[in-house]
Amino acid sequence: MKTFKRNFIRYTDAGLPILYVDTFEENKAKEIIHELCIKQRRGVIEWNLLNAWDFSDGQTIALPKADLAETLQLLISDDNLDNKTLILQDAHFHLDKPETISTLKFIALEIISGKYDCNIVIISPLVTLPKELESYTTVMELDPLTENDIKEIIRDFNNVQGIDQPAEDLLNKLVTRLKGLSQTEIQNILSLAISEDGMLTYSDLPKILEQKQQIVKKSGILEMVRVKETMNDIGGLENLKAWLLRKAEIFKHIKKAQDFGVDIPKGVLIAGMPGCGKSLTAKAAAKAFDVPLLRLDMGRLMGKYVGESEGNMRRAIKITEASSPCVLWIDELEKAFAGVSGSGGGSEVTTRLFGNFLTWMQEKDSLAFVVATANKIDSLPPELLRKGRFDETFYVDLPNLEERKKILEIHIKKRRKADLNKISLDNLAAKTAGYCGADLEGVVREAIESAFVKKQSALTTADIIEAIGNTHSLSEIMKDSIDAMKKMYEKLKLKSASR
Ligand code: ADP
Repeated sequence: MKTFKRNFIRYTDAGLPILYVDTFEENKAKEIIHELCIKQRRGVIEWNLLNAWDFSDGQTIALPKADLAETLQLLISDDNLDNKTLILQDAHFHLDKPETISTLKFIALEIISGKYDCNIVIISPLVTLPKELESYTTVMELDPLTENDIKEIIRDFNNVQGIDQPAEDLLNKLVTRLKGLSQTEIQNILSLAISEDGMLTYSDLPKILEQKQQIVKKSGILEMVRVKETMNDIGGLENLKAWLLRKAEIFKHIKKAQDFGVDIPKGVLIAGMPGCGKSLTAKAAAKAFDVPLLRLDMGRLMGKYVGESEGNMRRAIKITEASSPCVLWIDELEKAFAGVSGSGGGSEVTTRLFGNFLTWMQEKDSLAFVVATANKIDSLPPELLRKGRFDETFYVDLPNLEERKKILEIHIKKRRKADLNKISLDNLAAKTAGYCGADLEGVVREAIESAFVKKQSALTTADIIEAIGNTHSLSEIMKDSIDAMKKMYEKLKLKSASR
């Protein structure tokens, strides 16, 4: 907890009036703050929904049970704020009440003016900060547990349960799986692991992974995507596929690669036309890396309270790290970061969100490989495209002749393998300039359906040509925006996904 303690002391010394500790480990946070206050000879006052205490001058005095605003007003009228730290738990239930907001703001202003040497510490598992308090508040987090901390928690757990300590190898494996989780989460998982046979064994390792998936689900921001797709399901995009396979090789042998001096792969940004295989590539990447795929839903990330979106982003990052090795797929990245450099509603939040994300990308040293996909690159902030964030940015264009052939082949093979050698792929590819991968798949699907309805015994080239005639290609539907996008990609000189 070095960083948290250091920051806490720094912020207290600097007279920052409100510290908001965003954590599920409320008791742990309280314990650390008490310890720091004792060292600084500072009194502590605690309030929660059930009771309130004044721990000053070595005494513990119960304060009258009252709601938050009343308690704060009592402390003001008793002049009981100087040289104090006020720990507020459950405060998020009250942070939409005008009296509470205005009393907190009053105290914050008194602290800033120098009347009291005091700070307010809100400890809560969710950040629901009213706009009025935003500029007085600093959001903090506890430090993530280190490997040694986790080992300690496992040892303590075993001691309390009276079970044998695991051998070094199993202990290390447990630690790797439990990384990124909080102390409570670890203790719960360990309890579950020993519930059947009363001890920790290798067979508990998969159970730990299952529990981690539960945590991903409960977050509501991330989704664990089941993947069947492989690189062989992608027609074309040869440059991108080769690049990803290379990173997969590094990822799979990361220890050796790092010892050799190779950097940990960070991630890739894939931008370009809709329906051309970007999402497909994200899924196939997870398969190639042989790790779970987490999808970040940017829509759900954006919360309605100040700080909520950032809290969600921090949580998403934490869970991603906890689930590593994994691929984090950020779909339609432009939606989240639209308007970052511009002004207008919500842009402040997106700017900060974006800052958090960039810092994480920059500093990331976990095995969480980011695949971000975007249809429109012009609404992405230029900082994102700069080297050092993503390892590479690829542009996916409409498929060329060769690629269309491959895509048609893949989709015909999936459904009517036996008919493939009688179908003229060259002819079909020549007739489908301007069609995206999804269009081509649609054409194949429609042709097969017609062949079935016409009671044919096989799919023919003619069926597919007929389906092409009935389909409007992406380039017909989006002509203007496709031209504009092409110009943009050329201007930015992005690497082409195709060879
Ligand atoms: P994007 O994410 O670029 O909008 P998707 O990857 O979602 O496009 O593509 C939609 C569907 O179209 C895919 O699931 C796949 O069936 C088909 N498709 C698109 N591009 C390709 C491709 N290059 N090769 C094979 N199928 C493709």
